[in-house]
Amino acid sequence: MYYKQYGNTDMKVSAVGLGTMRYDEEDIKAGHLEKCAEIPLYAFEKGINYWDTAPFYCEDKSEIVTGIALSQIKRSEVYVTSKTNLGTIDAGDHPTKEDFRRRLEISLDRLKTDYIDFYHMWCMLSLESWEKHMDAVYGFFEDAKREGLIRNIVFSSHMQGNDIETVVASGKFKGMLIGYNALNYRFRQSGIKAAYQNGMGVVVMNPLGGGMIPANPDAFAYLAEGTEFTVPQAALRFVASHKEITVTLAGCTTKEHIDDAVKAVENLEEKPASEIAKEYEGRGVALNNLCTGCSYCKGCPSEIPIPKYMDAYNHKILTGDAKSITDRMDNHWGIKQEKAKECIACGKCEEQCTQHLPIIDRLKEIAAL
Ligand code: SF4
Ligand code: SF4
Repeated sequence: MYYKQYGNTDMKVSAVGLGTMRYDEEDIKAGHLEKCAEIPLYAFEKGINYWDTAPFYCEDKSEIVTGIALSQIKRSEVYVTSKTNLGTIDAGDHPTKEDFRRRLEISLDRLKTDYIDFYHMWCMLSLESWEKHMDAVYGFFEDAKREGLIRNIVFSSHMQGNDIETVVASGKFKGMLIGYNALNYRFRQSGIKAAYQNGMGVVVMNPLGGGMIPANPDAFAYLAEGTEFTVPQAALRFVASHKEITVTLAGCTTKEHIDDAVKAVENLEEKPASEIAKEYEGRGVALNNLCTGCSYCKGCPSEIPIPKYMDAYNHKILTGDAKSITDRMDNHWGIKQEKAKECIACGKCEEQCTQHLPIIDRLKEIAAL
């Protein structure tokens, strides 16, 4: 396993981390939690010492499964995370310290541990939401840290580059968790660079673009060119090879998934993000033309679910076949072509689009199919 230093801490973490939101669905439903716990234990055997969990993952069983595994190994040999926000505390916009503690203690109990290594201010979608959380709960995070219940305060976010830079500049966090992959890396690079320069750890979720990369192996074959890796392995390696990125999370259901992820970072060579961007410039499909599903284009006055239509349009770019748009709309999203005609071309979504996509034209094209 290849290890990296987590920001300016003394923690050495595996370049690949275990995402625990994909334990086997049937086993979870049947209550076979000991069986699910074989996954983190196998990951540990393979050198994966960073396990990322949260309330609500896997029908709210992920922390329990992870705790079963954690209690079977030496606690200090694994770094475990969990997460909270106003939604999970569920006590309105101004929870008390006790409300916060109740949520944290549930995670500690389930994880069968006295402390959590990285506790996330979870899912900050905008600067506004982040500011609200800073006012409402950051002080409680600090109290928990002083009491030794959490070791590092970190955040997870779907914000854009510039907004992430603002959070990074606050100096309040040891690290962050963000979505980053071969689809969206251009608009996320400034955020990871800022975090790295500020001595923060950077953990990446969604390295396979929400399944879009493995689902379109031909379009992403360039990532694996000249290597012995499969496309998903190459996509994972693409992310992990960024010098600015500390841990790349791989959601694993089976032991084979773990083997795949471990292979993806064998003899890893780290490079700065700017060098990687240069290396991939102009290769493969025109990635900047793809919708990344980031959902910043929300608030359409005609209530058009834009990310769904743009995801369907992605399929035309990836396959070259216009019919794949309607297939995706019908079979995956269950959305109608007619709705696309309701666009009044106000331009609001295009102003917000992180990829600067011609959304209005694409909706017109979809409406005319
Ligand atoms: S341009 Fe069309 S799709 Fe975009 S926000 Fe306005 S009405 Fe909605
Ligand atoms: S259309 Fe643009 S803003 Fe909306 S989800 Fe896609 S990439 Fe994000």
